[in-house]
Order: sequence, then C-alpha cells, then structure tokens
Amino acid sequence: MSSVFENAKKQIDSVASLLTEDYPDKKRFGRAIRLLKEPQRVLKKKIAIKLDSGKSKSFQAYRSQHNDARGPFKGGIRFHPQVSEDEVKALSTWMSIKCAVAGIPFGGGKGGIALDPKEFSEAELQRLSKKYADFLAPFIGPWRDVPAPDVNTGEREMAWMLEAYEKKIGCHAPATFTGKPIELGGSLGRIEATGQGGFYVLQNYIHRVRNIPARTTVAVQGFGNVGYWFSYFAQKEGYKVVAVSDSSGAILNLKGLDIEKLAKLKEDLGSFDEIVKKFRPKDGQPLADRFISNDELLALPVDILVPAALENSITSENAKKVKAKVVLEMANGPTTPEAEEILLSKKVDILPDVLCNTGGVTVSYFEWVQNLHGYRWTKERVNEELKIIMDKAFEEIYKVVHHKKVSYRKAAYVLAVKRIIDAMMLRGRV
Ligand code: NAD
Repeated sequence: MSSVFENAKKQIDSVASLLTEDYPDKKRFGRAIRLLKEPQRVLKKKIAIKLDSGKSKSFQAYRSQHNDARGPFKGGIRFHPQVSEDEVKALSTWMSIKCAVAGIPFGGGKGGIALDPKEFSEAELQRLSKKYADFLAPFIGPWRDVPAPDVNTGEREMAWMLEAYEKKIGCHAPATFTGKPIELGGSLGRIEATGQGGFYVLQNYIHRVRNIPARTTVAVQGFGNVGYWFSYFAQKEGYKVVAVSDSSGAILNLKGLDIEKLAKLKEDLGSFDEIVKKFRPKDGQPLADRFISNDELLALPVDILVPAALENSITSENAKKVKAKVVLEMANGPTTPEAEEILLSKKVDILPDVLCNTGGVTVSYFEWVQNLHGYRWTKERVNEELKIIMDKAFEEIYKVVHHKKVSYRKAAYVLAVKRIIDAMMLRGRV
C-alpha cells in the first residue's frame, strides 16, 4: 500500500528544484529540505480506559509535531480506525504547508486515536479524550502545540480535552485548543469558515480571469459542512450552482439550484435520493430537474468543479471525463497525482486544497488570538479578517504561477516551503 507520508515528502522534493536559485548555500538548503521531510517529534502511546462493562481496553494514540519554525504546532485530532503513524506524519506535514500558505504564525501538527467512535458510549469517549489530553499535556499549550477537531471529533471532544489539560496544569489556558464550544471560548464564524474561505478563492480567481459570476456555472461534490457553505456563499454572490451531491447521488438543475431550500430538505429527508423520491412542492414546480450519479456530476460541462467530499475522488479513470475548466479543491487531497497530470494536460486549472480549504485553520487562528486577548470578535470581524488572509494568499500564489510558470499547487508549495525554510534558517536550525 502506498504511504501517504511518502507522498507528502515527494511533494516537498518536487518543489525543491524550483527554489535552489533562491539559496546560494546549496548544502544548507539541502539540509533544510531534509529536515522539512521529517516531523520534529512523533508522540505515541497505548492509552487504556475502563469501558462501561468494567473491562479495560487500550487504544493506540499519536501526535505528530512536524515543524514549529513559524510558530506553535497546529492541527486536528481524529478518531478513526485507520489512524496510523504514517497518516499523522503526512497530515502534520500538510498542516505546516497550509499554515505557511495562509501566512498564519503556526507550524503543523496532527494527532489521532485508532478507534471507531461509533462503537463506544459517550462516557467511554469522554474518558479516552481526557486521558489523551493528559498524555499530551507536557507537549501542548498556547505557545507549544494547539490541537483542534478533525474527523469524528468536534466541540464536545475539545471541551473534554481542555478540561483535562487545565486540571493538569492548574490554570485556565483556553488558547491550547481551538474548535471549542462558543461558551468555552470558541470563535463565531468557525462553522462556515472553510466554505467561506474557498468562496473567497473562487472570487479572486474569477476576477482575475475576468469572468462574471452570473455566467459561471459550478458543480459541488459533497454537501456536508464545507460543500454546503461553499455553495451557499457562491449562490448568494450570483454564481449558478447547477449541481450538488451527497453519497447517495447528485441533484442537477441547469437553471441553478436553490441551495438553502435544498439544505432544509436534506435536513428533513436525510439524503438527495430521498428528496427526489418524496419532494413535490405545492406550486407544482420541481425543485430540481434531474437526479444524476456522482460520476455524472464530475463530468458535467460546468466552469468550476468543486470536490468537497473525500480524498481521491478525482482519479485517472474519471479525470479524462472532466469538462470543467477549473477544479477548486475543498476536500483534502481529492485529486490523485495521476488525475492531476491528466487535468493539467487538458489545461484545467487546479486550485489546490492547501489554499482553498485554509479558511478553517485561519479562523482557528482567530480563535487562538481571541483567547490570548480574552476578547471576542464579532462574526463580521471574523469574516473581514478571513477575507484579507484568503485574498492575500491567492494573490501571492497567483504571482508565483505567472512568474515561475507552474501549476497553482506547485506555486503554493514553493511559497510555503520557502517560508518554512526561511524561518528555520533565521533561527539557525540549519
Ligand atoms: P462532512 O462529513 O460534513 O461532509 C461530507 C459530505 O460528502 C457529505 O455530504 C457526504 O454525503 C458527502 N460524500 C461522502 N461520500 C461521497 C461520495 N462518494 N460522493 C459524493 N459525496 C460524498 O465533511 P466536511 O467537514 O464538509 O469535509 C469535507 C472535506 O473537506 C473533507 O475532505 C475534509 O477533510 C475537508 N476539510 C474540512 C474542513 C472543515 O472545516 N470541515 C477543513 C479543511 C478540510
């Protein structure tokens, strides 16, 4: 099986050659690249808890701290059966890249526990989360490492971990975790942040290529948190969102969908196939004209295709059928390297995940800033500051694309790797 961490290292190698001319001391640059390809520290422990049955069970837990030259490690904690050392190392590397792309003062981290949370009670998950925070306590903190939610974890787990951590250190330290409930110092605007950040990337791209929203068609794969908010903001601005999907299939309306109405129906009925089966509006007008498969959605003749569901959804198989001119990656790693080659050969612009979905970590950064100040920003302020950061990141990447004649992904990596290496050199680490 291919290692995701090997892929992450290859991505760093692939931009090293584009940066050599910036560093006259080639040996020093080579050392910096080698350091960047390994996490600074990987914490591992088997954590045992008492189950409700009275028996005890242990779980493999990890935290990878990739690089903190630009600031404290930052990254989520996931609860998933496939969590492994290889995975947390790769994900922590990508977090370093993302934070550097956004220009926020964090390095990369990622943690996880290998388990299927559906198999455990709330009390068991609470015991496990608190023991995990106890294990991490000496290595995390507002100026060391700032964890956040990830797959199968959320506000609830962050609140439990914060409680255990603060108990251990004997004082309040809310800036140690982000993605907390609002009552415990969470930030307004976090829920929509990732979709909203991606929408700002769309706006920047469209303005650059002199297109106009009303003449731009969009198809979105995945209608969860990220897909919904991206579609919501795009439609509000006048883009024609013609198709959206969930795991049951996609809804298509060439005149443009009503995103809010669709979200309400999905909430009531559960999935798109159920909506199509059951929905008959009072005025006799069908909400959407057709139910199509996810494969058909990927092949629609739209301007912008937005994968917002899972990794590896655009593959060497379906990439040939993609007709969109732009792929705007909201999911993490939705395009395989082989698919990327096919799309680039068809002159498709791929706006990469490490740019498009940084809205989430950026608002996490705002949460940290607010906690350190003991102050709460309004939602309007969060949105304004998010726009400033996303606009700047797009503009900087756009310049590299045109200056170095590389893809948007390569440009993002060039920018990020250079920022991290510069910080390492300034600190005299290499
Ligand atoms: P989510 O679980 O809320 O939504 C996922 C959606 O994808 C659901 O609508 C689901 O039905 C759909 N889906 C699943 N399998 C599918 C398939 N085969 N075809 C089409 N749709 C399918 O998850 P989310 O938080 O919206 O995250 C989506 C992606 O964005 C993930 O890759 C995640 O890692 C990435 N991401 C999320 C955030 C965040 O803040 N939530 C931040 C950065 C990156």
